[in-house]
Amino acid sequence: MPSQGRRSAPLPKGWARIRQRILRRDGWVCQWPVATGGLCGEPANQVDHKVGAAQDVDCHSDSNLWSLCEWHHNRKTGAEASAVAHAKPPRRRPAEDHPGLIG
Ligand SMILES: [Zn+2]
Repeated sequence: MPSQGRRSAPLPKGWARIRQRILRRDGWVCQWPVATGGLCGEPANQVDHKVGAAQDVDCHSDSNLWSLCEWHHNRKTGAEASAVAHAKPPRRRPAEDHPGLIG
């Protein structure tokens, strides 16, 4: 029984197949628009509703679904809940080295 926490809309029957279809449509690439004008481009493994179920629309139609990477999906979900904002996905930074600066 998959459960990913609280959602504003219950997932429809056949969601797994819809999800696969959207991911395939989007080429398994995150569709999140970035400030530089393109798309995020990270591998997507999440399908998200652009608009929640508040409106009286078919929120599960393909046009309201897009593929997101896990980070952007979490970010969007988090932002909707509590307006958390981060500029960029966290990337593992190499350990910094400060030769000769030991004081
Ligand atoms: Zn992304």
